[in-house]
Amino acid sequence: MILDLPLAHAGIDPDTSGRTREGLVGELLDGEDTVVVLVDELGDLAVAGSRLDTVAGADYLELHGSTHVYLGRDAEGRGHVLAIGPRHDGHDYHDLRTVMASMPAGERAVAVPALAIANWHRHSAFCPRCGERTEVEAAGWVRRCHGCGTEHYPRTDPAVIMSVIDGSDRLLLAHASHFPRGRYSMVAGYVEPGESIEHAVVRETREEVGMEVAEVIYRGSQPWPFPRSLMFAFEARVLGTPEAQVDGVEITDARFFTRAELAAAVAAGEVGLPGVASVAYSLLEAWYGGPIPAPGP
Ligand SMILES: [Zn+2]
Repeated sequence: MILDLPLAHAGIDPDTSGRTREGLVGELLDGEDTVVVLVDELGDLAVAGSRLDTVAGADYLELHGSTHVYLGRDAEGRGHVLAIGPRHDGHDYHDLRTVMASMPAGERAVAVPALAIANWHRHSAFCPRCGERTEVEAAGWVRRCHGCGTEHYPRTDPAVIMSVIDGSDRLLLAHASHFPRGRYSMVAGYVEPGESIEHAVVRETREEVGMEVAEVIYRGSQPWPFPRSLMFAFEARVLGTPEAQVDGVEITDARFFTRAELAAAVAAGEVGLPGVASVAYSLLEAWYGGPIPAPGP
């Protein structure tokens, strides 16, 4: 079964054929109805509470060094433009991760692709082929190199995340060295060049916890714009009840939990779980069979 992942929902119409229209972004930025989404140079979004703090095109003041991207049109036909650049006065900027769980789904579906392409622009000022400066074209969907003329397109990095489940239907959770104390999550990692996503599941499970996967079941995908990943979710079944072998560097602990053991560990505050908008949380819930009770007082 494919999971209903929280960041996998389609947002506004991306209107891809409109991107090549000459002068489109300039016109939109003069428009009363245009919605301008603000992202700063570090990849934080302008938000007010848990809502996007957008500005109307006619009220938007372009700051020097800004890059603009046409994001598409909403159901009312309003154009959306992303402005990446210095912070605008009068707005608070936050990491999307800290607000997305409470952000309305419709706004989250705008914020996620906006941040993903903002993060590509933030790291694409120079050509990876020749090192010269690149220039924005096609309403922000292409960067062309001044030196060698190469057109560069927005990239996303595929990654896999899997619920490793043993022969007794227990779920493996791992503590990575960069996690806060007590936080546990799924085995995950980037797909390597030349590798299929299914092979990445097998390799990462072997590398991170020393287990051989017997069956790989696809469960869906969602973007994860931190900075620009696309997460592929899997269920990875292992035979018997193997012991986890962690490397002690990247992963410092990994163990299997029964549902009762996990609920007790979470209630006691011994195990902290990933955020509710993450693929990891959806995989956890799918295995658990519903929402996992929150920690006790
Ligand atoms: Zn070049």
